[in-house]
Amino acid sequence: MGIKLDGKELSKKIQEEIKQIIKFKNTNGEKVPCLANILVGRDDASAYYMNSQNKLCNKLGIKVKSVYLEKDVEEEKLIKVIEDLNKDNKVDGIILQLPLPKHLDEAKITSFISHEKDIDALSTLSLGKLYKGEKCFIPCTPKGIIELIKSTGVKIEGKHAVIIGRSNIVGKPVSQLLLNENATVTICHSKTNNLKEICCNADILIVAIGKPRFITKEYIKPGAIVIDVGTTVIEGTLVGDVCFDEVLEKASFVTPVPGGVGAMTTTMLMKNLCEGLS
Ligand code: NAP
Repeated sequence: MGIKLDGKELSKKIQEEIKQIIKFKNTNGEKVPCLANILVGRDDASAYYMNSQNKLCNKLGIKVKSVYLEKDVEEEKLIKVIEDLNKDNKVDGIILQLPLPKHLDEAKITSFISHEKDIDALSTLSLGKLYKGEKCFIPCTPKGIIELIKSTGVKIEGKHAVIIGRSNIVGKPVSQLLLNENATVTICHSKTNNLKEICCNADILIVAIGKPRFITKEYIKPGAIVIDVGTTVIEGTLVGDVCFDEVLEKASFVTPVPGGVGAMTTTMLMKNLCEGLS
């Protein structure tokens, strides 16, 4: 029987560390970091995420500057907002809530965020720097995944890590981070042959496909670490890509949904903000 890898608990611990850093800065008259977040329109999920960022900033003592724009905002106006925040010395990190309304080109607009303030590594430049091993922010969801794996105490080096999903926000960056940790990495996707066979060889299995309860115990190597990134809402309930209960019987550690990877994301954003470029 494996252990539930609790993202909420780990997140709380990291938040406590951040609180101490902010307290130290306040006591010593040092600059307290400031997050700037931008919401275009009123997409429910994005508004919820922005609200939770603001709540966490308040809880940790981090400054926050929120910019709300109408959903039909012109591209030039949004770019001007980003450029002004780039120049604003009081602002240390910028996050643009995605997805943007259809008339706005996400790749183009995110490229205007200065890589020195791109705390979720949204721009092509930030991701390019990540792949080249240059100084950059690590995107929050992949960073949270690595923290969760490290929290198990199991050494990543030399392990076979299998990632299912090759998105730019999860699959690709997490594969690079695991490579940086000296894992041997296999990336799978919808056209992969023998998926089950490959997964059964994984010491670390990361599932980011968005197919509820797709991964059953037949996909698991005994003792594997299983990270479930998937989130699908079914009849008002958040469901992961992994059949948690049966996989837990075979794996060493499994993240739950909710309370696993998702619980780490906003905390990782604040960690990036406080740590600066690394
Ligand atoms: P995505 O853009 O939705 O793409 C899904 C990926 O899964 C693609 O690479 C696709 O392959 C692959 N895939 C789909 N069906 C598959 C199958 N049957 N077998 C193997 N591979 C398959 O990916 P995403 O944006 O990374 O999102 C994935 C999931 O993670 C979603 O449920 C999303 O809501 C969740 N998510 C959660 C968090 C969090 O904080 N918890 C953050 C981000 C995303 P192809 O490339 O061949 O199409």
